[in-house]
Amino acid sequence: MAINQKLTKRSDDFAKWYNELILKSELADYSPVRGCMIILPLGYALWENVQRLMDQEFKKTQVENVYFPALIPLSLLQKEAEHVEGFSPQLAVVTHGGGKELAEPLVIRPTSETIIWQYYADRLQSYRQLPLLINQWCNVMRWEMRTRLFLRTTEFLWQEGHTAHATPAEAEERALMMLGVYRKVLEEYMAIPCYQGVKSSQEKFAGAENSYSLEVMVQDFKAVQAATSHNFGQRFSKAFGVTFLNEQDERQHVYTTSWGSSTRLIGTLVMVHADDRGLVLPPRIARTQIVIVPISDSENRKRVFDAAGKLENTLREQGYTVKADYRDIKPVHKFYDWELRGVPLRIEIGLKEVTAEEATLVQRDTGKKMTVRQAELSELIPGIFEEMQRRMFERALQFRDEHTYVVNSFKEFREVLEEKKGFLRAHWCGSNSCENDIKSETEATIRTIPFDSEPETGECVYCGKPSGRRVLFAKAY
Ligand SMILES: [Zn+2]
Repeated sequence: MAINQKLTKRSDDFAKWYNELILKSELADYSPVRGCMIILPLGYALWENVQRLMDQEFKKTQVENVYFPALIPLSLLQKEAEHVEGFSPQLAVVTHGGGKELAEPLVIRPTSETIIWQYYADRLQSYRQLPLLINQWCNVMRWEMRTRLFLRTTEFLWQEGHTAHATPAEAEERALMMLGVYRKVLEEYMAIPCYQGVKSSQEKFAGAENSYSLEVMVQDFKAVQAATSHNFGQRFSKAFGVTFLNEQDERQHVYTTSWGSSTRLIGTLVMVHADDRGLVLPPRIARTQIVIVPISDSENRKRVFDAAGKLENTLREQGYTVKADYRDIKPVHKFYDWELRGVPLRIEIGLKEVTAEEATLVQRDTGKKMTVRQAELSELIPGIFEEMQRRMFERALQFRDEHTYVVNSFKEFREVLEEKKGFLRAHWCGSNSCENDIKSETEATIRTIPFDSEPETGECVYCGKPSGRRVLFAKAY
């Protein structure tokens, strides 16, 4: 086997690096339909890990899973004007079934608010049934013109949570609570630091009163919206007639929320942590945490392989996901393969190590190499992983903070965006026209009005009118 061809460097062409990496590491591949994606075992395993962690967190907040169908009558979507207007350019519509033209076109769900609230309209009767807290794991379709593996695909996997409440305060509390759940999974497990805040009125979800999001900076300094949570107020309940009798026996519309995260998170994970040699996966989310590479000539093969097998079993019993690589190829190819696939810890065992009852450890994120006694491994590995997890988060946070700039004029805004790239904290007057003009002149959008943005008097960088706080601008995926 020839030495595998190296990846394009991030500094040479970030987009090319990203695509090559997704394909070479076998996270995903292209499908016969443009914009759709085949998710391969490594990519799916990462998604399953994200899914498991999220699902646990949802259930801690009393959310239950359901499943609604993928096909939605077009007329249902049309019941909420802003919602259909927001989604209509992206709809995939089924017009034929069973060899006949359908009496009414069906839409492949772009999201499920409409079919869910239509269903509950007749079934919610009393305040005793509230809050309603449901979630579904499914696929959705949004016809995309410009696609990128994981980050923007026409069909993607996601979860969509939907809740109904008796009061606006409860709905708002829930929307924020779920944003917190996403933040926990991203920061604690995926080692991805997030800016959290509220969307401007132009960037919010079609039909929402308030949209909250997590915004992440990736290594080419652009923003990725990693998860969103929306408070719809009574928008959908009024459109679909979802009412209940309150404690005073008065009929009233419910207040709803929805919140979602998708396979886009896998693309975000790659863009935040991976390097020029391949994926770098945090130990808490990696499919395989440890790979053991036995190194021997044919004479000592049995002895070395037996030692590797024994270690594999021991580590597995201790709860790690482990793989020993017994393939008949040179160790250097194995190192390359597992570095490309981002395995956090590699353990090399050769005759020298077997004889001395030692093992050589190599950490994926730093390349740091150390030889330790095998008997010490079970004590050492938890600390190595904890430290790696923390280090990966800190490094991403430092990168983000070093590339987030405070700017005070439009001239400065343009210069910093052009020369340094990154996120910009700038004053904005709140008007749609300034937001639009800034976008058309610079491609930067208001990613979020961050929760940690303190009230501060200033002047809109575009028009000079008064502004009460800074908002976060960036170019985004
Ligand atoms: Zn302005």
